[in-house]
Amino acid sequence: MRLKDSPEEAAWRAEVRSFLKNEMPEALRPRGDAGPQMGMGMGGGGEAAAAAGFGAEAGPRRPEAQAGGAGFRLAGGPMAEWRKKLADKGWNAPAWPKEYGGAGMSVMEQFILNEEFAEARVMAMGGMGVSMAGPTIITHGTDEQKAEFLPPILRGETQWCQGFSEPGAGSDLASLQTRAVKDGDDYVINGSKIWTSGAQFANWMFMMARTDPEAPKHRGISYFLLDMKTPGITVQPLVTMAGTAMFNQVFFDSVRVPAKNIVGEVNRGWYVGTTTLDFERSGIGNAVGTAQNVARMIRFAKESKEFSALGRNPMVRLELADRLIEANVAKMLSYRVIHLQNSGMVPNHEASMAKLYSSELGQRIARTGMRVIGLYGLSWDTQSAHSPNRGQYSRGYVSSVSGTIAGGTSEIQRNIIAQRGMGLPRD
Ligand SMILES: Cc1cc2nc3c(=O)[nH]c(=O)nc-3n(C[C@H](O)[C@H](O)[C@H](O)COP(=O)(O)OP(=O)(O)OC[C@H]3O[C@@H](n4cnc5c(N)ncnc54)[C@H](O)[C@@H]3O)c2cc1C
Repeated sequence: MRLKDSPEEAAWRAEVRSFLKNEMPEALRPRGDAGPQMGMGMGGGGEAAAAAGFGAEAGPRRPEAQAGGAGFRLAGGPMAEWRKKLADKGWNAPAWPKEYGGAGMSVMEQFILNEEFAEARVMAMGGMGVSMAGPTIITHGTDEQKAEFLPPILRGETQWCQGFSEPGAGSDLASLQTRAVKDGDDYVINGSKIWTSGAQFANWMFMMARTDPEAPKHRGISYFLLDMKTPGITVQPLVTMAGTAMFNQVFFDSVRVPAKNIVGEVNRGWYVGTTTLDFERSGIGNAVGTAQNVARMIRFAKESKEFSALGRNPMVRLELADRLIEANVAKMLSYRVIHLQNSGMVPNHEASMAKLYSSELGQRIARTGMRVIGLYGLSWDTQSAHSPNRGQYSRGYVSSVSGTIAGGTSEIQRNIIAQRGMGLPRD
């Protein structure tokens, strides 16, 4: 594994860095430690950080962790200006081929781009449209589907959500029961999807439904593109213990979707769902964000006279040292994944290792944050004078729980590592 940039890579890094320095609208620049926690890489849907990268399951990918939920919101002003600047260079969709408006970058170019965006804490603009819907349409879609759906994704006019998980189908996704029955030129969908990140903001959903209940479970599923304004769709927000409603349950009551909105062949949707373009899968945006969080936490522990337990609790300094080491390990795991990809290999259990490690590390960092502020962690009111960093650590602590579930649970990642990485038997 080579850790130093080649001369070409160094030149590309300098180009990206200079673009970010000179072109990013002032309003989107992060301000000190209180600034937005951005920079989760673009390829997999920055918000889609975990997803961009992590998806070593055999079945359709789960980008939701990176999707961080909502993907990007449709917005004007500096966001629109920034999106346009990126789109002009094809940087909204670094992995998409040029003929579809992407940049056609190599995985290493994407990696460097994602790393620099993360270092600069810059808002990624892709979302699930770029990371999931687009590649699927490019690979399996008809010419009509490409013409209809790809340009609005690049222009940021459509926001997509992923309708895969159901109340009875998560890790074992192929057990999904939402039905789609042919009726004339349409299919009629009944059932429900759950944990659908950003469905309340999305105007389109890519989803899988069962079209042949008699077939073996992987072979009776089709892949649909669904307009969220279609009558019969109800989006019900699910409020997490962190008090946010970033995901939803979505109900389908006789929802009519034109047959022309099936991607790929009927009953082959499971295999359509596995599509990826040559996205870099290192999760480097996540790893850089993690290292930045630890650096911020160390600064806070040193500088906050009022809230920091550093002088009172000797455990705090030891834990901070552990987190610093682990943040660097997380980066190394990302480098390993990109090294494999750059050498023409397909990362498999290595991507699971990176996902598992970084999501569990995220939880350890959140626990350390609570130790840093001690009993002030009981206050998470963003306006209270007793809430350090506007309740950020307390909120991060409860939010961190989902990291080891979204994007494939830790148990599933361990199964992949055990079977594919260590050659252990299935049970
Ligand atoms: C923040 C967040 C956002 C999400 N966003 C989306 C989204 O946008 N779209 C979407 O479709 N889904 C989304 N999901 C759903 C996510 O993909 C599932 O929660 C995840 O795949 C696990 O499925 P499940 O919740 O049904 O748990 P289950 O699969 O029921 O698992 C329950 C427990 O059993 C364990 N388990 C299951 N199978 C095995 C096994 N074979 N071996 C060992 N242990 C096992 C699991 O590890 C877990 O601990 C999101 C989830 C979260 C937390």
